[in-house]
Amino acid sequence: MSAAVEWELVGTLYGQRASFVSSLAAMLVTGGIAWLRLGNWLPVGWTAAATLVAALRLLDISAFQRRAGTDTPQRWARRFLIGAWTQGALWGAASLVLLTTDDAFTQFVVITVQTGFLAGAAARNNAVPTVALGQVYCTLLPLLAVCLLHPSHYYLLYAVVVVLEIAASVATVRYLHRQAAGLLMTSEQNVALLASLGAANTQLEAANARLQSLATTDGLTGVVNRRGLDAALDAEWSRISRDATHLAVLLVDIDFFKAYNDRFGHQAGDDCLRRVARCLSATVRRPSDLVARYGGEEFAVILPGTDHFGAIDMAERLRAAVQAMALPHPDNPGGIVTISVGAATLHASGSAATVPEELIALADKELYRAKQAGRNRVRCAA
Ligand code: GH3
Ligand code: MG
Ligand code: MG
Repeated sequence: MSAAVEWELVGTLYGQRASFVSSLAAMLVTGGIAWLRLGNWLPVGWTAAATLVAALRLLDISAFQRRAGTDTPQRWARRFLIGAWTQGALWGAASLVLLTTDDAFTQFVVITVQTGFLAGAAARNNAVPTVALGQVYCTLLPLLAVCLLHPSHYYLLYAVVVVLEIAASVATVRYLHRQAAGLLMTSEQNVALLASLGAANTQLEAANARLQSLATTDGLTGVVNRRGLDAALDAEWSRISRDATHLAVLLVDIDFFKAYNDRFGHQAGDDCLRRVARCLSATVRRPSDLVARYGGEEFAVILPGTDHFGAIDMAERLRAAVQAMALPHPDNPGGIVTISVGAATLHASGSAATVPEELIALADKELYRAKQAGRNRVRCAA
């Protein structure tokens, strides 16, 4: 049983201020009746003791509500137990009325109120069984003893009833305690289960996000791969008609890259691809711009919200940026790595392209023109 459940159980003991007050009132009335009927001071002493015990228990309830965080539930259960047993013993002491007087009405009132409140206490205090069981024994064992000591044989029969009541009360306390503790523990397990489910869900979401990014990332260059490019292009395609805006696509191809590979080897070629990819990514400016590896030594750049002139400007910047890296390439006329760029743009109000593939095809045509015109240059569809 966890500390939280133990606190919860002790809390139910201390959450009964109203029943304390009504039990004190019943003791006052019972004591008062006995005093009026019997005319001696014994009931007054009993009532004074009962009032003192009840007042101390009410103070104990207030102390529990102000308790410090370092306390243990066991300590509070012990404090409550002392009060409960003492009050039970007072009711037990009241059984003496059977031996000390013949006044039937007083006997009737004492015994009915005593057993009635005991049954209530057994139901209320089962959260900590020792508390409730102690009350049962402290109240009913003196009554049983008095019945056995009484000269009348009828009281022997009543003793049987008292024994049965002890047995029934013990069974009730045990049963109710199992129920209450079981419910609290189940609800605690449910809370823990919910928390672990939430944590697992968060991990799963993170793993999904990682997987998603892996599935759309090019392993060699680290930029978006062809699958990611297609998805981004589809998304932008639906956005341009909705937002009535432009979309530009650039196709970038490294010049004479086969010769670069042939001279320096494939590993150097891979390294060159990575450098060009990094350079392109660093040169695009808006967060919505996207650099992707289109295939082989070709890259595609998507520029949402960019018109014809913007596309030419961006393509020229990319070309110049790669040239500025000045990576040696003896088989290229300038002696360094260069790129050719073909661009195509689209506006929502009407364009030659009706599907994303057509926009790519237009850009590819321009790339071919750039190559034909001597490489290391930009061409854009009018
Ligand atoms: P052009 O200027 O007309 O584009 O000439 P090019 O040699 O670049 O074009 P071509 O299509 O003949 O050759 C492309 C080369 O790119 C062929 C291949 O060896 C190289 N290539 C494609 N993918 C990779 C890659 O992942 N790693 C490396 N190292 N090379 C690649
Ligand atoms: Mg090529
Ligand atoms: Mg090439």
